[in-house]
Amino acid sequence: MIHGYSAAVEPARWQNILADSVTDPRELLTRLQLGLDLLPAAVAADKSFRLRVPTPFIDLMQPGNPHDPLLRQILPLGDELLEHPGFVSDPLGEQHSNPQPGIVHKYHGRLLLIVSGGCAVNCRYCFRRHFPYADNNLSTTEWHQALDYIRQDDSIKEVILSGGDPLIATDKRLAWLTTEIAGIPHVRRLRVHTRLPLVLPQRITESLITALTATRLPLTVVLHCNHANELGTAQRNAIQQLRQAGVMLLNQAVLLRGVNDNLTDLCDLSENLGDTGVLPYYLHMLDHVRGAQHFLVDEATATRLMAQLLIKLPGFMVPRLVREVAGQPAKVPIPVDLVYA
Ligand SMILES: *Cc1c(COP(=O)(O)O)cnc(C)c1O
Ligand code: SF4
Repeated sequence: MIHGYSAAVEPARWQNILADSVTDPRELLTRLQLGLDLLPAAVAADKSFRLRVPTPFIDLMQPGNPHDPLLRQILPLGDELLEHPGFVSDPLGEQHSNPQPGIVHKYHGRLLLIVSGGCAVNCRYCFRRHFPYADNNLSTTEWHQALDYIRQDDSIKEVILSGGDPLIATDKRLAWLTTEIAGIPHVRRLRVHTRLPLVLPQRITESLITALTATRLPLTVVLHCNHANELGTAQRNAIQQLRQAGVMLLNQAVLLRGVNDNLTDLCDLSENLGDTGVLPYYLHMLDHVRGAQHFLVDEATATRLMAQLLIKLPGFMVPRLVREVAGQPAKVPIPVDLVYA
């Protein structure tokens, strides 16, 4: 059958879109009809951490608006070049929780498997902007060693495919990994931490879903969506496909100045996630990573926003406000007092 023949060489549509990502600051500003006065700073900041954004995400931005909440997450700014005491390269000390390449094991019962060093998008506030990705591109031998590490520790009940973005890996690699992990009897759950359904929704295909759900392991996908505007039609469809496959969907966001640090945006984010069947999980305080200080929301503001959210929304639609503290055995919850609403 001709149809069956062509299916075997299925066009790599998401890979083409990924390859078309914008990495040139001038191109980004031109596409969005923004003034080139923003260009010199963007070029300067781009040198330490490259601009990278797939076009489906750009399509969700408002042309002509330099304060667009999606643009702010990806546009290099001169502020990134300022040094601030306490804002460092590896705020979480992850370079020391790397028992072996490809694994970050900090918490009881679960660990991160660094499936791919790469991301489709470079978020300016990312704590991994200084992470030594090159050391985490595993050879076949190292993959087997990483799997052995999981096999030898029967306290590990959940494996979290992480990165970078794990869904940058091919379906074939993900299917192989998922099968290997499912073959380890003490592992009970599989989790994927990804931003791709928001920035490159075409990545969510039947074939990907099959690769991730074909084993005995229940799958949770934790999205990373910071603003309701990220949930366009294609994004909602991608999420819908995951839901229909029986995947549990959660979201983590980062509280970011100039992006979502107000009650309206945080409410809209929860409500719109709710519409697509995604539960808010964490709202992260910014990691103190060098170059990201201009995104910082102070703790008093954060807890006041949380108190207001608790009053406005049903409890299950309110994310937990947490901070990562190097050396702590879990993400640290930040207490919220309703009297400060
Ligand atoms: C966030 C994180 C996890 C997952 O933590 P949960 O609280 O289970 O979501 C696991 N390992 C590391 C290193 C993490 O940073
Ligand atoms: S998608 Fe996640 S890991 Fe990748 S740059 Fe953005 S915040 Fe960092």
